[in-house]
Amino acid sequence: MKISGEFELIEKIRKAFIPADRTATGIGDDAAVIVKREKEKALVTTDTLVEGVHFLKGKISYGDLGYKSIAVNMSDIAAMGGVPAYALLTLGLSPDISGADMDEFIQGMLYIRDKLPFDLVGGDTVKSPCLFITVTMIGYTKTEPLMRCGARPGDYIYVSGSLGDSAIGLSIITGSLKEPVLDKDYFTLRHYRPFPRVSLMHYLKKRYDVSSAIDISDGLLADLAHIADESAAGFRIDVEKLPLPLKRIGPSFETSPEYFYDFAMSGGEDYEIVFTSPDIIDPEFVLRYTGAGLSCIGRMLEGGRDVYQNGKKLEWEGLAKGYIHF
Ligand code: ADP
Ligand code: MG
Repeated sequence: MKISGEFELIEKIRKAFIPADRTATGIGDDAAVIVKREKEKALVTTDTLVEGVHFLKGKISYGDLGYKSIAVNMSDIAAMGGVPAYALLTLGLSPDISGADMDEFIQGMLYIRDKLPFDLVGGDTVKSPCLFITVTMIGYTKTEPLMRCGARPGDYIYVSGSLGDSAIGLSIITGSLKEPVLDKDYFTLRHYRPFPRVSLMHYLKKRYDVSSAIDISDGLLADLAHIADESAAGFRIDVEKLPLPLKRIGPSFETSPEYFYDFAMSGGEDYEIVFTSPDIIDPEFVLRYTGAGLSCIGRMLEGGRDVYQNGKKLEWEGLAKGYIHF
């Protein structure tokens, strides 16, 4: 894309994202003005998607990239118990990107904005040898943010939705899935368009004592270990309690359960939430009011990283523990 195209692109983004919050100013000045909110805490997060590292060219559409670059940031805000408000978008554009590609990208961002509103108030556009996207998001919470460090021994461990879906989806996309699944489209969609658990966390923290939370970007075991580390506590989970989408997997689960449990324990990018609470939370009740599934998968302990299967303790070192970035 040429320099003149870059200015056109910013104009296009500006027109697509007229701020809903009229008290703030959006794209077009040296800095965006956002409104300070009384008694609310601001949450700020940023995430980058790099071509060849976080996504493969030709394996994801520009629409999905637009959607996902916003969604992953919203997921971090959700994990803190906040509601998204503002975003900044930095684009590193490689020369081969067309105006039509960027239109698709904008449509992907607008799609998620229709479901979870936010104002895109600025960003930066640069040339780059490969495509990268950085989104910075600001959200707010009226109550105490949900931290990783608040889990206490005895707390129940809950997880939203189902686990391993995104990694199964990615394996389908790259052609490396070893066991067939029935509903391929479900898994690929879960990889391309994860839905941030903003309203679920808002609901839960209003009704229950949520002592800690984290979103699952690196895999359940890796992310639950972050809660344990930050809380100076341990945990026990039971593999057979992990939520897997059995109907979507189909008969392969019966023949190769371990294969799918590995995805559930170590698959990244589900953007579900694992959280702890001293409260017994009824999943039926939560499902009725939020539409989101919830599973209790274990308890926090004084120490240890205990993974049990059918009452037998598995070797922690032998378990794949999620995506290692570097
Ligand atoms: P400056 O030179 O002051 O940094 P820029 O020319 O980089 O300004 O950007 C002009 C305006 O467009 C700024 O308000 C900036 O926030 C916005 N902007 C630039 N790139 C993007 C983008 N990719 N998405 C959204 N807003 C952008
Ligand atoms: Mg600039």
